[in-house]
Amino acid sequence: MKQVFDIFIIGGGINGAGIARDAVGRGLKVFLAEKGKVGSATSSWSSKLIHGGLRYLENYEFKLVRESLKEREVITNIAPSITRPIPFIIPHSKKLRSKLLIRLGLFLYDNLGGKTKIPKSSKINLTKKYSNILHSHFSVGFQYYDVQVDDKKLVEMNINDAKKMGASILENTKVINVNRAEEGWDINLDNGEIIKSKILINAAGPWINETVNNVIKINTNKSIRLVRGSHIITNKLYDEEVAFTLQNDDNRIVFVIPYKEQFSLIGTTEVDVNTPDNPSISDDEKIYLINTINNYFVKQISQQDIIDTYSGIRPLIEDFKEASKVTRDYVFDLNLDNNRSPLLNIYGGKLTTYRKLSEKVMEELSPYLSNTKTKNWTASKQL
Ligand SMILES: Cc1cc2nc3c(=O)[nH]c(=O)nc-3n(C[C@H](O)[C@H](O)[C@H](O)COP(=O)(O)OP(=O)(O)OC[C@H]3O[C@@H](n4cnc5c(N)ncnc54)[C@H](O)[C@@H]3O)c2cc1C
Repeated sequence: MKQVFDIFIIGGGINGAGIARDAVGRGLKVFLAEKGKVGSATSSWSSKLIHGGLRYLENYEFKLVRESLKEREVITNIAPSITRPIPFIIPHSKKLRSKLLIRLGLFLYDNLGGKTKIPKSSKINLTKKYSNILHSHFSVGFQYYDVQVDDKKLVEMNINDAKKMGASILENTKVINVNRAEEGWDINLDNGEIIKSKILINAAGPWINETVNNVIKINTNKSIRLVRGSHIITNKLYDEEVAFTLQNDDNRIVFVIPYKEQFSLIGTTEVDVNTPDNPSISDDEKIYLINTINNYFVKQISQQDIIDTYSGIRPLIEDFKEASKVTRDYVFDLNLDNNRSPLLNIYGGKLTTYRKLSEKVMEELSPYLSNTKTKNWTASKQL
């Protein structure tokens, strides 16, 4: 008789990988199909930060920032080989956010997540420090810490752990069609196989609208907004192991982050797009990032300094706001047929929150899984 899996996951990005690991560790039979290589889409095109998201405080996203700060602590503990805290400097500009607002934001950032090993924020004198990097009119700055991560490895480590515990993971295999059966799902793969599973999870990231409409073919009132974010990479702009959070007139911020010892990673942008496929940076985005550097740094750069670029599509929950104000949180859309054959669509989410998201997925699905261990386990088990 054909094997029936408990959970089938579409997509091997950070969310699919995290769910696969969590579920198989609870004794469930898990199958994951990824149309490319695991972790090779959005989850490796990020700014590579496990962060609370200081900026989201301006949008009053206290719940998301608190959860993210707690996760920053957890992920630093379970994946020490691929994470490192680094200081971020916000140069203060009189025309932009006031000192009071920044201090208030940093006070919340230091305290919302509870106990942490990560150093607290402080005010710094930029005439004494980093005057070799910044224009001389930046005299006051603020320092806080966030965590840099190897995003692709984070996915791979979750996948490898899931495999070790018995999950079936297929790369270069696309889910092309699914059928809701009496008790579960028949899932058609582009290699001709049909997999049977009790539950279907759609973790297709920015391809979620496409999978809902063309693969699963159901109606839902949720949708995703596709917002491209691009980075440029230059030879390192300075030697210090410090990152910068640069504010722009449009209220957005741009990070400059030390990258792979020899480089600086500069991003990101926000451009609405119609398709998640083949994202790439436009000239306007390059100019926006270059201008930001030149407004702040003594060292001036031009398009010739760009060594490489990459772009990714943020899968943001559509709430019809300006891109920078759209929430970075996630929502689940549970779809049932007469209380049977569950389908869980995952909208949104960040690299930082993948582990908590995975736990919440298990909680949401627990009424439909009789054979699962309910105890959460991923917060304390090394990757
Ligand atoms: C520019 C940018 C910067 C970011 N910076 C940060 C950051 O610093 N910190 C942070 O926490 N978050 C950051 N994010 C957000 C974070 O990267 C994403 O939210 C996260 O990676 C999404 O993961 P995912 O698993 O949902 O999607 P993905 O990684 O895209 O995974 C979905 C997978 O589904 C696969 N798939 C789709 N359709 C099918 C199908 N039919 N069959 C099989 N497989 C399929 C795709 O190939 C893909 O690999 C950033 C995002 C962007 C775009």
